[in-house]
Amino acid sequence: MNINDYKGVLVYVEQRFGEVQNVSLELLGKGRKIADELGVHVVAALIGKDIEKHSKLLVEYGADKVLVMQDDNLELYSTEPYTQAMVQAVNSEMPEIVLFGATSIGRDLAPRVSARLLTGLTADCTSLDISEDRMLLMTRPAFGGNIMATIVSPDHRPQMSTVRPGVMTKMERDHNRTGEIVNYPVKIERNKNFIEVLSFEKETEEKQDIQEATVLVSGGRGIGSKDNFGLLYDLADELNGLVSASRAAVDSGWMDHDRQVGQTGKTVRPNLYIACGISGAIQHVAGMEEAELIIAVNKDKGAKIFEVADLGIVGDVQKVLPFVIEEIKKINL
Ligand code: FAD
Repeated sequence: MNINDYKGVLVYVEQRFGEVQNVSLELLGKGRKIADELGVHVVAALIGKDIEKHSKLLVEYGADKVLVMQDDNLELYSTEPYTQAMVQAVNSEMPEIVLFGATSIGRDLAPRVSARLLTGLTADCTSLDISEDRMLLMTRPAFGGNIMATIVSPDHRPQMSTVRPGVMTKMERDHNRTGEIVNYPVKIERNKNFIEVLSFEKETEEKQDIQEATVLVSGGRGIGSKDNFGLLYDLADELNGLVSASRAAVDSGWMDHDRQVGQTGKTVRPNLYIACGISGAIQHVAGMEEAELIIAVNKDKGAKIFEVADLGIVGDVQKVLPFVIEEIKKINL
């Protein structure tokens, strides 16, 4: 392998039931920045069936070229056909960098692709940079989040990484951007790794995504019980926000895991994050420190959460929150 033959950034565009996922637009934004630094192109690999209509959107969010790969076997995500398609995309484009979202799909797909291409993969990156000698610096928490490790792939190409949703920012949509759209004749071989998807059942309950919320009222172990979370819902209602939680609250069964903020939960960047009864462990802070305004309520004035908070209230949540809710109600009237 001559690593100098590899040029450009390839982004795997995740679509679910034909809808492009936000994380892919975020990765196009980051891919664009990296590509501009390297002086190369960004290619979006759009894989599925009847999905070419999304090509323009991908260009408007930063792609120079969209590789549209369509086949009946690619209608719903499954590991083998998507791996075959992505390997063909890499072999055709020869990119130096390939980015995936660290979603359930990206986490399934990226390792298969990297294994078939005999290259490395850094999972769950929280930042990506370029070194002076053009290498991708892939940074991620290690040893339980106690240190940040920066990983490089000096001898193999492409350099591959997964990035969690919400970590990178989308570029502003530019309706005037133009790019090349190529229908790639993908070939899917029905080999022994193939599985047949007989049916798909969508979760019926409409889940609200904490990553989309502009206001989050987040509770930790200090809330004390599932019932006590009622106060947080009342406050979130007044502020048109959602309720999220620390891992301690999720592990106690007070909140679903999809509402967990932090290293093993979601990364959020709301305009306002109100941390109630949360100590501010590094693994929690990693998921919320980018919030525009952070308000913390904690009865321990030495709690670490106050180090990241813009405004701190030292007090018992059971006393502070009812007061705050009443005051906001007066404003909302
Ligand atoms: P605690 O640390 O127990 O803090 C409770 C706080 O509430 C205290 O500061 C206390 O002073 C305050 N308090 C108590 N009663 C009241 C009251 N009445 N009024 C006001 N304040 C009160 N954690 C996450 O959150 N998200 C993650 O994704 C995550 N991933 C992890 C991954 C790994 C590999 C590891 C090792 C840990 C991870 N953790 C994560 C766990 C993390 O280290 C902490 O244990 C966790 O964040 C603590 O949650 P907490 O702040 O709610 O609870």
